[in-house]
Amino acid sequence: MWFITHIALGGALGTWIKRPIWLIVILALSSHLLLDMIPHWDYTTIFRWESLAIVDTLSGILLIALMMQRNRHRTACFLGGIFSALPDLEGLLIHYGYLSRYYFPSHIRPFPHGSSEMFGGILVQVLIVLVSLFVTMREKRD
Ligand SMILES: [Zn+2]
Repeated sequence: MWFITHIALGGALGTWIKRPIWLIVILALSSHLLLDMIPHWDYTTIFRWESLAIVDTLSGILLIALMMQRNRHRTACFLGGIFSALPDLEGLLIHYGYLSRYYFPSHIRPFPHGSSEMFGGILVQVLIVLVSLFVTMREKRD
């Protein structure tokens, strides 16, 4: 799944759980596993995907900043988002030669990593981002 999808759901999870931090971290990492199982479309399957990764990452950072700004549980939201998206960092480290192989379970065979055609695989991620935003925006600031 895309960085923005992971960070959005993680931010919503953190906002929803609030505390303790260790539970947010465990559930955020678990959400990465679950999202990777859902059939989706990854842009890393296309040629020259690096520019899409930059757009995805910057959009994700902007989104979590927006979610935190509208949120009285900022730290929980931030930690949920970061720990949910963190496992995909290893893909970048491998791409640039800083890591030799994948370690996160959903990135290793035989873990059932979902995949689908482009339209449905993008739509499912847009829906997850929108639901995550909705959940987070319901939390009012003090
Ligand atoms: Zn992943």
